[in-house]
Amino acid sequence: MSDRQVKVVLSEKDMPRQWYNIMADMSNLPKPGLNPVTKKPLTPDDLLPIFPMDLILQEVSMDRWIDIPEEVLDIYRQWRPSPLYRARRLEQALGTPARIYYKHEGVSPAGSHKPNTAIPQAYYNKKAGIKRLSTETGAGQWGSALSLACSYFGLECTVYMVKVSYHQKPYRRSLMQVWGAEVIPSPSDRTNAGRQVLAKDPDCLGSLGIAISEAVEDAANRKDTNYSLGSVLNHVLLHQTVIGLEAKKQLELVGDYPDVVVGCCGGGSNFAGLAFPFLADKFAGKEVRAVAVEPTACPTLTRGHFAYDFGDSAQLTPIVSMFTLGHDFVPPGIHAGGLRYHGASPLVSQLVHDGIAEAVAIGQRGVFESAVLFARTEGILPAPESAHAIKGAIDEALKAKDAGEERTILFSLSGHGHFDLSAYDEFFAGRLTDIVYPQEMIDKALASLPVCDEES
Ligand SMILES: *Cc1c(COP(=O)(O)O)cnc(C)c1O
Repeated sequence: MSDRQVKVVLSEKDMPRQWYNIMADMSNLPKPGLNPVTKKPLTPDDLLPIFPMDLILQEVSMDRWIDIPEEVLDIYRQWRPSPLYRARRLEQALGTPARIYYKHEGVSPAGSHKPNTAIPQAYYNKKAGIKRLSTETGAGQWGSALSLACSYFGLECTVYMVKVSYHQKPYRRSLMQVWGAEVIPSPSDRTNAGRQVLAKDPDCLGSLGIAISEAVEDAANRKDTNYSLGSVLNHVLLHQTVIGLEAKKQLELVGDYPDVVVGCCGGGSNFAGLAFPFLADKFAGKEVRAVAVEPTACPTLTRGHFAYDFGDSAQLTPIVSMFTLGHDFVPPGIHAGGLRYHGASPLVSQLVHDGIAEAVAIGQRGVFESAVLFARTEGILPAPESAHAIKGAIDEALKAKDAGEERTILFSLSGHGHFDLSAYDEFFAGRLTDIVYPQEMIDKALASLPVCDEES
């Protein structure tokens, strides 16, 4: 790389044409998902009421490479390949000998990595004859991405948006409406799950777990409707591997390779998308670290239980093996909405459990300090979620400085923060505190975990 080059850009013809399926290379796969009622291993029939067969097959596929449909590539081309940046100005500010790179997924129309999976999910549902998709959204990133994807494919879209965000983030809601989606504050009176919550607590501000229950119930009750999930599941992580596959080619063009790959982790999809293609090399004997960064307020991977748990609070979703804070976890109100889920992807959980990937938890003040430093050096305003990865990368760069070593650090800039400025206002007003999730709540969650004998 010349000493001035900042961006590494691929042409459209260099876009990956296949997704990478890490399951083909893992010697220890997650334990199988279980039916929430019978607690027996899931069958395709359990999932067919809410997912199309193509996605169910991807969920369990053991093929290392899965072709990306031409129709999906045509839409990926609207913003992919995404640029890889060398963070020269951030490196200078830190005085580090490390080379820091970031993959900028904020260039998608929705402003995050989430369209990478929303597009194929809408495509496979359309192909299966589905007319309408239902989903949940917290901060609004996933709802925006799915609304965008549905508008590309002419599908209807209904988004259950966690009520507190519905009122706090009106512009994300507007964006979904621009793309034609119907947005409903959750808990709502549209579903049994919502009505039950409202009967107990009419002022309930909602949670992702409740919104998932509503969206799943909606899809299960209508033949023309399927459900769509923006993270956690194997097929979602699979679709996101375009990020890491592109990044590998881009680094190859400048003759570099990461010592460490860093991503923030909510459900695990952007971390997996960037890291899994590098872990493929690790399985083949290469040395590379992968670090998932989460908030201390929602420390799923670093302090959660590695166990079977439900994906939602009403216990409608399959039971999966993962790190969890308990399915009735109601998160502290931190400003990284996308990182407030009680669980994490079974694949990422298994890799962290087995020591193949690492996890760290960081408080939100340090995260916002890093976000502001990044905006003032690199210029790009990061999403608060992505700022966790920035802080993780900065910590790695400072370790390299202490060690006097030229390490290569690659992180995922999962999205821009143009809709998150109220969080920055709070930070500048000194109203953000570091929240550490209490140990007694983690201990208490243990009692709420489902009892499953399935130990296969
Ligand atoms: C949703 C979101 C996340 C967290 O989800 P993952 O599945 O862990 O990637 C992180 N960053 C941004 C910008 C998001 O929108």
